[in-house]
Amino acid sequence: MTLNLQPSGIVQNACHSGRGGSPFHAVCLYQEGDQLNAAVAVYLAQGFIRNVGALVIATADHSEHICAALRGMSFSIERLRAGRELVFLDADTVLQHISVNDVPDPLKLRALIGQTTPLRCGPESELRIYSEMTERMHERGHEFAARRLEQTWGDCVADQPWHLLCGQHDSRLAGRPRRRLCAQHTHVIGPNGLPHPATGARSIGRVGW
Ligand SMILES: [Zn+2]
Repeated sequence: MTLNLQPSGIVQNACHSGRGGSPFHAVCLYQEGDQLNAAVAVYLAQGFIRNVGALVIATADHSEHICAALRGMSFSIERLRAGRELVFLDADTVLQHISVNDVPDPLKLRALIGQTTPLRCGPESELRIYSEMTERMHERGHEFAARRLEQTWGDCVADQPWHLLCGQHDSRLAGRPRRRLCAQHTHVIGPNGLPHPATGARSIGRVGW
């Protein structure tokens, strides 16, 4: 099978050296799609206004809604894509590409990000990534693979200048898997749309982002 993981406007670049600031690997626990779309749009927009490129790894349906939310904030999706500031990849296609025996391979994930990073990166070569691959794995009951992917994302934001936001429908994950997921993130975005430091997903305080 041939996978096309090079959407138009994608180029190779040297965007991965060094990192600045504190790691930001948040999960948005959403109840309604509109809440997620708004949170993702704000997260991406805060990068765009600083010329920080964005990579969105989502379902086609969610990607459409994220585009709509960005348009609602007066961003031109066409200009962002033409300017190589915004790249969309299909979550299932990427999962298929980076997985070995249904478990994401860290090297394959890093290689894929390296191949698809938008040309335009911000100060300190920053990049903002939104991913819902973990949510897709939870939907299939692949908990081990989901934890493995989150470990890999955590390693990535620790040594790369990337901010990462994950999406997870709140009502489709409960108990230990939910607590584990939150504990693997630096911040949890709650119903008010603000990121809170993750402390095992129990008590959370308010911070800016
Ligand atoms: Zn995550």
